[in-house]
Amino acid sequence: MTDKLDARPAFCRLEGEKPFSALPTPAYVIEEAQLRENAALLASVMRETGCKILLAQKAFSNYDFYPLLSEYLAGTEASGLFEARLGAEEMPDKEVHVFCAAYREKDFAELLRYADHIVFNSPAQLKRFGARAKQAGKSIGLRINPECSTQEGHAIYDPCAPGSRLGVTRARWDREMTPELVTLLDGLHFHTLCEQDADALELTLRAVEENYGDILPRMQWLNMGGGHHITRPGYQLSTLKRCILHAKNTWGVEVYLEPGEACALNAGYLVSRVLDVIEDETLPIAVLDASAACHMPDVLEMPYLPPVYRAQEGAEGSFVYRLAGPTCLAGDVIGVYSFDHVLQEGDLVIFGDLAIYSTCKNNTFNGMPLPDLWRRDEQGGLTKLTDFGYRDFKYRLGSER
Ligand SMILES: *Cc1c(COP(=O)(O)O)cnc(C)c1O
Repeated sequence: MTDKLDARPAFCRLEGEKPFSALPTPAYVIEEAQLRENAALLASVMRETGCKILLAQKAFSNYDFYPLLSEYLAGTEASGLFEARLGAEEMPDKEVHVFCAAYREKDFAELLRYADHIVFNSPAQLKRFGARAKQAGKSIGLRINPECSTQEGHAIYDPCAPGSRLGVTRARWDREMTPELVTLLDGLHFHTLCEQDADALELTLRAVEENYGDILPRMQWLNMGGGHHITRPGYQLSTLKRCILHAKNTWGVEVYLEPGEACALNAGYLVSRVLDVIEDETLPIAVLDASAACHMPDVLEMPYLPPVYRAQEGAEGSFVYRLAGPTCLAGDVIGVYSFDHVLQEGDLVIFGDLAIYSTCKNNTFNGMPLPDLWRRDEQGGLTKLTDFGYRDFKYRLGSER
């Protein structure tokens, strides 16, 4: 069982008897070789299609790795002022794009210092800020809602769901986009996918063509957002390339993609230790020093089951445990796994694919410490990038006295 399990994409680089055995826990470890492999694949898509691919920083913004990523990518995408500044500071000389559901007046002048492309979410926001951005020499876009839901189950990740605030439908465009507003625009932006393959992009692009095919020839670029699971083994790369070339050839636009997940997929671990094993009547529970609620919030929010090193999902195997966090939240449970060995106090439990939506989304609920952050270089060497302590918990809550 172990050999097959170790070959999974999340763990294929963890050779050797006991990875991370000396590491203080909990800790995130970013796997540089995987980041490079992901980025190189994205670069090959850029090379073969002439599109530009950006890092969506909300998924992964550990800037110690921006120099590596910037060898391959065209720049960064931001969700607002702080991420735009981070992209400008840490991936200098590359493009900075920003999309925000609504910009604030007090941020906007500063935002103009960092961002090259500014994407608005409504005709009213475009009207309020568009001329200023244009005057500052920025490229200006509007997010459209293609009204084409392609995902089942994850309504909170579906910007095309009924009542969505994200993007302008064609009906709203026809009601509110005056000729003056249209002339401000350099491009259109859509973002509707989440961990999806290129067949979903193809469907979406068809809807975009139906709804906005008359507008696109007047645009310089089309940004197809994120959610493209490009670096997942088996992703339909040829369909993706066909979609990009179709847009370029049909409308004469430059094409941007801004994946987050795909940049850092399988490129990190959350390393934890067993603090206690509680013998329950149904299943033994291993209480870890890492928490789902604090350190891998998407496990509860999405929800999903992260892969675990030397274990498989479910209760089919020999040594079955429910893995849980140390907080007071009853639901701070990661899930049920069967291991190829007995779990005891002090044992390591290594979660895979935890570079994305983890280090940038964690919290100190329950006064939990934030995991330290480590780099695993391409030779397998470990270096600590930063650590956290009581101050990081306390001073989010009050004045420094
Ligand atoms: C979340 C988001 C992305 C990145 O999405 P991934 O699923 O991580 O690829 C890109 N663009 C926008 C506008 C987003 O909101």
